[in-house]
Amino acid sequence: MQNLIQAQRNFFNSNATKDIKFRKQQLKKLFNVLKDNEQLMYDAIYTDFKKSAFDTYSTELALVYSDIKEAIKKVDDWASIKNRPTNLLNLPAISYVIPEPLGVSLVIGAWNYPYQLSFAPAVSAIVAGCTVILKPSEIPENTSKTIAKIINSNFDSDFFKVVEGGIEETTELLKEKFDKIFFTGSTAVGKIVYQAAAKHLTPVTLELGGKSPAFITPNANLKIAAKRLIWSKFLNAGQTCIAPDYLLVHKSIKDDFLNLLKIEIENSHFDTKNGNYVQIVNKRNVERLIKLIDKEKVYIGGNYDIEKRLIAPTILDDVNFEDSIMEEEIFGPILPIIYYDNLEETIAKVKEMPKPLSCYVFTKNKTSKNKILSEISFGGGCVNEAVMHLSNPNFGFGGVGESGMGSYHGEEGFKAFSHFKSILDKPTWIEPNIKYYPHTPLKLKLLKFFFRFN
Ligand code: NAD
Repeated sequence: MQNLIQAQRNFFNSNATKDIKFRKQQLKKLFNVLKDNEQLMYDAIYTDFKKSAFDTYSTELALVYSDIKEAIKKVDDWASIKNRPTNLLNLPAISYVIPEPLGVSLVIGAWNYPYQLSFAPAVSAIVAGCTVILKPSEIPENTSKTIAKIINSNFDSDFFKVVEGGIEETTELLKEKFDKIFFTGSTAVGKIVYQAAAKHLTPVTLELGGKSPAFITPNANLKIAAKRLIWSKFLNAGQTCIAPDYLLVHKSIKDDFLNLLKIEIENSHFDTKNGNYVQIVNKRNVERLIKLIDKEKVYIGGNYDIEKRLIAPTILDDVNFEDSIMEEEIFGPILPIIYYDNLEETIAKVKEMPKPLSCYVFTKNKTSKNKILSEISFGGGCVNEAVMHLSNPNFGFGGVGESGMGSYHGEEGFKAFSHFKSILDKPTWIEPNIKYYPHTPLKLKLLKFFFRFN
């Protein structure tokens, strides 16, 4: 591990990655390598949790390809030196900011979208000019092996290397000094990573999880809300960091909305055979999830097969904030519904909880929309939609508070792996001597002129 990091540091110090042409070449290479190995990736992820080629392309690879294309197109601009105005005190001079890559980076991925969560941060690192050590999640083991095979057989390890492993290997990696750590995973492990990074004062981006609420107000388009919520919740069998974790539905629309949710579930024909449903990633998670199903509250679903690692799309009706399912992120195909009467009180309840990664508002009411969007702190979200904000390449993506720090994709990703050096560049043909000793009353007067605060 130490040899690998040292080799990457030497390569970084050779300045090779600072060359924009090099970054573009590597990004193009990554694009082609992924394209050439698509079938291998589909096969691996299907073996791990029966994810279809359609879902793998739409929710993972398309996003990575889009990030690569955007990075190649924009890197000249992002990496260019940007001028800033010079204040009166410093004239004559020019001021500018030089972006520089942070150096050797460590990217740690989560298992739920293993390709996207490994390759998208790697794209951000490469476009910024960093070297990359990528540690994908070990849980979908075929996927992890495939990622390692594809990258390690095509890239020079001094620049981009996949290191496989679980807690033990990651703990070893985290003892070493990196110039940037980019972590995607749970809030609990995020704290471990942050502490390890603090020992070396390594900057981190933490892409964590949380309980993302979806509000449905009385005058929302209920049919559309039900359709979009059922799709976004049961995509990847609910194993999505920005999935609506629970619904906050106004009491007055209870029966109509429940019925629409049921129709949507039935119409969707969720089944691994239909390619629109996946297995729960491992037995441990199946067992964790079935403990959360309160049989008394099951409105639809509730059945499961532990051996096949499948849980039917489940809706729990009339849940309270105090129920155990509200204690932690569900991360599975169980959707609890809480009914509310008073929007202010409900917002206050959500604000007592850890800051969510996302928040969704289904409404036609501008006042309710603005209230929810402005009063609750969350990573990002949608109005009358769920999950899709991630697919807009013009947004940065990240959490806040317990759901993470920092953001990435597009220029935000470039910034996450960069430092911006501020440079004041002065000519030598003039040397005003106000700052030099001796300090006279006239100099004080001039100083007050430059620093006047009216
Ligand atoms: P996890 O925290 O268990 O694991 C993430 C990574 O950390 C893995 O690579 C794993 O090997 C490593 N790891 C696990 N325990 C460790 C330890 N004790 N020390 C060092 N490394 C350790 O998360 P997960 O189960 O893979 O993913 C689920 C979580 O990730 C959910 O909370 C989800 O919301 C979150 N998530 C967030 C995003 C996002 O973009 N914000 C995306 C996907 C998932």
